[in-house]
Amino acid sequence: MRTTDVIVLGAGFVGVSAALQLQARGRSVALVDRLGAVAGETSLGNSGIVQTEAVFPYAFPRAPGEILNAALNRDPRAHIKYSALPSIAPFLWRYFLASSPAKRLASGRVMRGLVEYAASEHRAFAQAAGSGALLREGGWIKVFRTSRGRDAALADAEEARPYGVTFDVLSREQLLALEPHLSELALGGVHFMSPPTTSDPQALGKSYGDLFVERGGRLLKGDARSLSVSGAGWVVTTEEGPLPAREAVVALGPWSGELMRSLGLRLPFGVKRGYHMHYAPRGNAGLSRPVLDLEKGYLVTPMARGLRLTTGAEFARRDDPPSSAHLDRLEPFGREMFPLAERRDAEPWLGRRPCLPDMLPVIGPAPRLKGLWLDFGHQHWGLTLGPVSGRLLAEMMAGEPTLMNPAPFRAERFA
Ligand SMILES: Cc1cc2nc3c(=O)[nH]c(=O)nc-3n(C[C@H](O)[C@H](O)[C@H](O)COP(=O)(O)OP(=O)(O)OC[C@H]3O[C@@H](n4cnc5c(N)ncnc54)[C@H](O)[C@@H]3O)c2cc1C
Repeated sequence: MRTTDVIVLGAGFVGVSAALQLQARGRSVALVDRLGAVAGETSLGNSGIVQTEAVFPYAFPRAPGEILNAALNRDPRAHIKYSALPSIAPFLWRYFLASSPAKRLASGRVMRGLVEYAASEHRAFAQAAGSGALLREGGWIKVFRTSRGRDAALADAEEARPYGVTFDVLSREQLLALEPHLSELALGGVHFMSPPTTSDPQALGKSYGDLFVERGGRLLKGDARSLSVSGAGWVVTTEEGPLPAREAVVALGPWSGELMRSLGLRLPFGVKRGYHMHYAPRGNAGLSRPVLDLEKGYLVTPMARGLRLTTGAEFARRDDPPSSAHLDRLEPFGREMFPLAERRDAEPWLGRRPCLPDMLPVIGPAPRLKGLWLDFGHQHWGLTLGPVSGRLLAEMMAGEPTLMNPAPFRAERFA
């Protein structure tokens, strides 16, 4: 039976990044996923933005009017599946409490410490993997339709400025110079110039996986639910048989909560589901970078497969069947703003953003479970934060100085 130093469970952006960062610190690593492949779930279908402007977590609405609008599914930025409410209400309540202005500010300060290194860690991986061409420069744009939207976009951007976020405010003419195929509904925009974006998140993730294997890592098919304590370490069953290791990392994205519960650690896990659909561009029209239709709350990103429209948060149980309701609400807004022609996918793709109520990930040792480490809950920003979270975790595991104080990410905050 072959052993390894570390088993990383889950091969999304978070898991593959942790595996690479541990490998870079001299550990032998096996990456285990039930698909036996990298970036096959949530990491496959996102909007492709390495959100280096991301400071403040997306907060639960606080104003009574906004809450009412959201509750009645009148705000297109989110969608609630009513039959799921009894199950997800405890999570939503904790999310509401964690969204107070003071807590949001505190989360922003913490998040900044990570986000600061997000692009450089991606670029280092992509360069080593030979996939630098999958990272596009040119940033991304928030487009507003009304002066009210403009005020909101500017206020958000200004709030982030002291944290080092840079942006340009675009008049309609300046916006059209960058994205000439937006419709007359676009009044102007806020352009975040520095975030890299990708035209194919899955290909980027796979290139990181290939790099890991090239460097001697093993990518195995196996079920994380078979993880158990074995001697001084852990063992998991893979297609190649039982695999023992001194240490294990849980990076199962939206499936992390279940495994932790089976090991005796209950965390207030929730998901914000989201969909994508690809469209052919109309004629020779297109986009050069991702664009968010701010007041309607969806994004369109130019991807290898076409123009990818991604939806905001659908509040439902993780395993509820997919529903076309949210995408169907948003598509008409997309068609009036962007040059979208026919759909290219037979069905909308469904992904599940893994969330904890304070919208901070858990990164660090598992309480009371020696040799088990946690790296999950990256909500809207798992593509962005995968590589840098992996670095923070690997630094902790290797006993190195860490890039920032990891205390705010400890699982014990939910004790
Ligand atoms: C519509 C949408 C748009 C988004 N846009 C962006 C964006 O622009 N920028 C950004 O930074 N983030 C974005 N996100 C969020 C981002 O995609 C996620 O945060 C990220 O993919 C989570 O990565 P992960 O590795 O934690 O989880 P996943 O990618 O879901 O990986 C978890 C892995 O665990 C495996 N697994 C599950 N159960 C088991 C088991 N029992 N045994 C073994 N393996 C198992 C799965 O097969 C999977 O490969 C978006 C998300 C959505 C839904």
